[in-house]
Amino acid sequence: MGFSNWVFLVLLLYWLTLTSSSDGLSDFPPRFLDYAKRQDFFDWMVGVRRKIHENPELGYEEFETSKLIRAELDKMGIKYKYPYAVTGVVGFIGTGKAPFVALRADMDALPMQEMVEWEHKSKVPNKMHACGHDSHVAMLLGAARILQEHREELKGTVVLVFQPAEEGGAGAKQMIDAGALENVKAIFGLHVDSKLPLGEVASRPGPLLAASGFFQAVISGKGGHAAIPQHSIDPILAASNVIVSLQHLISREADPLDSQVVTVAKFQGGGAFNVIPDSVTIGGTFRAFSKESFKQLRQRIEEVVTGQAAVHRCKAVVDFQEKEKPFFPPTVNKKDLHEYFQAIAANMIGAEKVKSMQPLMGSEDFSFYQEMIPGYFFFLGMQNETQKPLQSAHSPYFEINEDALPYGAALHASLATGYLLELQSEVHLPKGRHHDEL
Ligand SMILES: [Zn+2]
Ligand SMILES: [Zn+2]
Repeated sequence: MGFSNWVFLVLLLYWLTLTSSSDGLSDFPPRFLDYAKRQDFFDWMVGVRRKIHENPELGYEEFETSKLIRAELDKMGIKYKYPYAVTGVVGFIGTGKAPFVALRADMDALPMQEMVEWEHKSKVPNKMHACGHDSHVAMLLGAARILQEHREELKGTVVLVFQPAEEGGAGAKQMIDAGALENVKAIFGLHVDSKLPLGEVASRPGPLLAASGFFQAVISGKGGHAAIPQHSIDPILAASNVIVSLQHLISREADPLDSQVVTVAKFQGGGAFNVIPDSVTIGGTFRAFSKESFKQLRQRIEEVVTGQAAVHRCKAVVDFQEKEKPFFPPTVNKKDLHEYFQAIAANMIGAEKVKSMQPLMGSEDFSFYQEMIPGYFFFLGMQNETQKPLQSAHSPYFEINEDALPYGAALHASLATGYLLELQSEVHLPKGRHHDEL
């Protein structure tokens, strides 16, 4: 056997050890799920989630939530850095060296009153975890515990990203600016889903969630007595026409990715029955799946508002409030990460439970991470057919099916563990030699 043959044999043997070791490890997704379903583990996650649920905090005010996260990380002996973006926490598990892969949870609640009557109802009036971010934190802490217990299996470092202010505050952007993604190769995130059955997951390659932005317009005319409207320049009439015209910008196409939406959700003007006001303020959101159509839509909104206001002899100023409320880019999943996710999830819950879905008009600030590095976002099912249907996110009746917590924790942990393994085999494999070539 010549030297080059020997080299080849050694490389082949090395490669086989790698694949067989990753095969040996390929049982980790179901193993992690069993681990997360253990009664003591489950009870602990539920406890964490309920504690956060009782004390909801709005964007950039998640001080107690952040404190609770750090206390749990301390208990587990996990190192972290704090603060990022006011309340954010970034934890590190594994070798402490490259490669780095990140998992993300959002911490903020919504300014609304909880209407669900239960033992762990929000104790803060007009604040509620109605989007499930309390469960996201509990699941990421769950993943942290699984990973810390199995840290010798990690071929690199898992970065835990607990971010503030997902609900409109673009906390993700602040986390990036503060350096949370430094050296990170990829990031994974999830959201609970009330309509998807428990034990299932859903996502898609490419655009998953829309880009979204806010707008506010002040439409000014000339107020006066309601009995002599001909002497006024009526901004209520102008604003009404603006809203009707904005409806024409909405399109629902056969390909959902070509669709776009404009919604006026705010209308303020006038305080008396018999006085035409000087001005009216309207506001809302607009959404589209590509950056180009989003940009066009933004321009059309400005044109329609000022143009329609002018028809009624009113002046209009449109403010997109990009400083306070930055536009969210579309949430776009990388194709190879989609394939990777499907493999890991199928390994854990079975391929038939890994669903494809249509893109949704909702938006997520996870998209800011995806603008920086490859990222993957998916939905985690909570609906149990034997129980009453769950209300959608942002409903005052929103509830979490806590049985979903082990799935989220185990998926997070598996995605990170497997991804570090993948990176390792990519680095060590002889050039041009990939699994499917042999
Ligand atoms: Zn939300
Ligand atoms: Zn949310």
